[in-house]
Amino acid sequence: MNELVVISPHHDDLGFSVPLLLSTWSKLGLSLKFITCFTYSNYAPNKIGLSSQEVTKIRQQEDQEFLLKLGSKHPQINLGLLDAPLRLKCSSDLTCKRKFNEVDLQEAIHLSLQLKDKIGMGSILAPLGLGNHIDHLIVLHACMLLSPDRSIIFYEDLPYAAEISFQEILNNVESIARKIKRPLKSILYKNTDAVKQKKQFANIYRSQITEKDLYNLVQYTRNLGGERIWTDSKTQENLKIIEK
Ligand SMILES: [Zn+2]
Repeated sequence: MNELVVISPHHDDLGFSVPLLLSTWSKLGLSLKFITCFTYSNYAPNKIGLSSQEVTKIRQQEDQEFLLKLGSKHPQINLGLLDAPLRLKCSSDLTCKRKFNEVDLQEAIHLSLQLKDKIGMGSILAPLGLGNHIDHLIVLHACMLLSPDRSIIFYEDLPYAAEISFQEILNNVESIARKIKRPLKSILYKNTDAVKQKKQFANIYRSQITEKDLYNLVQYTRNLGGERIWTDSKTQENLKIIEK
């Protein structure tokens, strides 16, 4: 694996979902490139009353802080797409209730073309789309369209993963595996200091993290003892080589 392109729907998804894993890979010298898709946003539950421009800037700064904490300097591309509440002109609590439709499919196809341009032949780390946030589903779909030509690894979207059962996670994984025609197996990365470190990463996103989300995220991390990803056996072998 020469380069891993890490794809995130929003600025906080990686910091909540797989910060420990990214930090480990960064320290091992794996070449990482970050692409964040729906970066134009007015969503900031802890900073009410700001304009979209101000919120977008704050969220970018928080993400920069996260990337700095990973240790090495990794390239980051913000695609500047409108996030769901702005794009669909709906309130943020409806973004997880929308059924993926033809408009979203076109959005995903368009996004996959944009990503393809920037990814080259690189392997990708993509969200599973747990919790059904429509932006996460669009990114998942775009990444699945790119999967025939490259290795693909999936991360569990937090805090959403903490709000559903393991069976629901498994159903999502199996549905994705059928679509990309590759069996997916989990790898659990245990870390004895997981809860403490995860809290530190999550707290970088001061404009975003709510008490409830932080609690769920911490409980989920405590139960797992770390972070979990899903991929095929060939990619699992490649990861073992990097991690040796
Ligand atoms: Zn998100």
